[in-house]
This record gives sequence, C-alpha cells and structure tokens, in this order.
Amino acid sequence: MNYATIKNCDIANGPGVRVSLFVSGCTHRCPGCFNEIAWDFNYGQPFTQETIDSIISMLRPSYIRGLTLLGGEPFEPQNQAAVVELLRQVKKALPEKSIWAFSGYLYEKDILSGRLGDTSEYLSYLDVLVDGPFVEAKKNLSLRFRGSENQRLIDVKASLEAGETVLWDDKQKGMRENNDIHSC
Ligand code: SF4
Repeated sequence: MNYATIKNCDIANGPGVRVSLFVSGCTHRCPGCFNEIAWDFNYGQPFTQETIDSIISMLRPSYIRGLTLLGGEPFEPQNQAAVVELLRQVKKALPEKSIWAFSGYLYEKDILSGRLGDTSEYLSYLDVLVDGPFVEAKKNLSLRFRGSENQRLIDVKASLEAGETVLWDDKQKGMRENNDIHSC
C-alpha cells in the first residue's frame, strides 16, 4: 500500500485531536471528491513498518484521542492487509486510542457481506465507521465529520454486538469528546 499524507494534529475527522492517515487508492471516483489525487494506488509513499512506528509515536501524547483512516479508500481489498497490520500494532501499543475509518463502501452491503474479503479483524479494531460515497447533490457543510447527507456515522462495536447497524450518537459523544481540543 502507498499513502498520501499523515496529519499529526487533525481536528476535522473525528472527535478530539487525532492522527489521520490518508491511504492511496480509491475506485469510487465520487464527483466532487475532496482528494482526487489519492485515487491512484501508486500515489504518495510506500507504507512501511517505519510508517507504522512513526504513527504510533504520533499517537502517544495524551492529548491525541485516536487514529483516523481515510483516503483514498482504506477498505479497498488491496489496502486492507496493510491497514489491518497498522491497527493490530496500534491496538497492542495503545489500546485506549479510538479508531475511526472513512469509507465510500457501505457497511452492510459491501463490508459486512464479505464482498471485499474477510473484514472481521479489521472491524474488530474500529470504533466508528463513516460509510458511503460522497454525493455532491447531498453535500451539507453543516454536518459534522462527513460531507454529504447519505453518509452515516456507525458505532461499529455496538453494531457488531447488536447484530444490526447502530448509529454513533454524534451529539452526546462528540460534544463530550471534543472538550479537550488541544493546540498542537
Ligand atoms: S470515496 Fe472518498 S476518496 Fe474515494 S472518490 Fe469518494 S470522496 Fe474521493
């Protein structure tokens, strides 16, 4: 896998201050995509063990709430092995950090169904999945953590436990978790 960018102080893509990894490669090609340059799987730099070590170091400060995966498409089958290895190591080193992922795929139809391969280990590490493609006609700038109204914030742990899709409670959890915004 290649990656486009890593941000070590991101307050836009999940609650609190986060480290964000923008992976390379996306086959959705949503019109109006915010990051078209990352559609190419060869864009950016190779994702290596050194990259994982560097992300873990960026996550260590107590004011960092967690890691966010976006892209590109972190659920493209050819990106999954590298992302899962990252999550495995992050969870082992820093189990208290929350993990968010943004995907243009749909949780039930594409991810849970097995259409993209076995995503069970991947999902076991996620706290929140923001799913669905960006749809320009449904763009809404007032939405938190998503660009268009069709996209959902899914509480992955609660969904797996309940056996049905449970939405993340944006107002309750988001307000509380954003109280500790830190200026990096
Ligand atoms: S899924 Fe995301 S990165 Fe891929 S084309 Fe759509 S908006 Fe762009």
